[in-house]
Amino acid sequence: MEKRPKVLPCGGKQMKKNAPKKRFGQNFLKDYAVLEGIVDAADVQEGDHILEIGPGQGALTRLMCQRGAYVYAVEIDKDLAHMLQRDFAVYERLTVIQGDILKQDLTKFSEQIGEPFKVVANLPYYITTPILMKLLELSLPITQITVMVQKEVAGRMVAAPGTKEYGALSVAVRYHTQSTVEMEVPPEAFYPRPKVKSCVVHMKVLKEPPVKVKDPAAMFLLVKAAFGQRRKTLVNAVSHGMGIDKEKIAMAAEELFGDPSIRGEKLSLEDFARLSDYIGKVSGKT
Ligand code: SAM
Repeated sequence: MEKRPKVLPCGGKQMKKNAPKKRFGQNFLKDYAVLEGIVDAADVQEGDHILEIGPGQGALTRLMCQRGAYVYAVEIDKDLAHMLQRDFAVYERLTVIQGDILKQDLTKFSEQIGEPFKVVANLPYYITTPILMKLLELSLPITQITVMVQKEVAGRMVAAPGTKEYGALSVAVRYHTQSTVEMEVPPEAFYPRPKVKSCVVHMKVLKEPPVKVKDPAAMFLLVKAAFGQRRKTLVNAVSHGMGIDKEKIAMAAEELFGDPSIRGEKLSLEDFARLSDYIGKVSGKT
């Protein structure tokens, strides 16, 4: 028989320990339909290997364990990590890792699993972008990422060039994944209620990126520089961010886009790839 998690007593030391901690972005999901929706969007199957970021009180964790997945749950909050280790001991395929996801050596973690894995999480909103960038940039054998994020971040993840939401995150998401916003989730689905609406985003990680670029790392430096100074032209932002001669960038912008005063937010992923290759060529780097 499956051991049920203990019901927390109302009040007292235990209650205080497990009361939501704002500094860790703790907004726990309490809506079962939303929890099921996330696990369905991630298509969690028996035998799947899943990295869960921020299991919290284990609402998602439990569902994924019940589906027979191997779940590796990284939780920064010592009290919650210990509670999960104690109360979820019945789930033999669950490994609780107490620590900060941003400090985990995910390359080593992935080598230890030795299998492709999925990422499923109701992310702590205060570090959503650094977590996503880490997952996307490390070239890990991740097949898909299904995450709850703020609605505004979901908008940025799938934004098109020329819109005000479009930025470095949109380019990275487009380069590495095929993404869809699966559902919008109201604040009432959480305890405590966040001030903002949320969305579940599903990202299928691409085996091959949709564009070919000689030096992807150099392209992303260019992307970061282009969006680092949003109100500046591409020429000014890139020369400031990367220390490249203004004339060279103006020449590239004129030749590739017919407009030396174009802004970075107008450029598509394909444009950034062309620009990066062009700059590499004229700098004699590629
Ligand atoms: N998965 C739970 C749920 O859906 O109810 C909790 C989600 S809550 C939005 C985010 C969780 O991430 C919290 O449990 C929080 O303690 C944890 N967390 C915050 N920062 C973290 C970090 N840097 N590394 C790992 N976990 C973190």
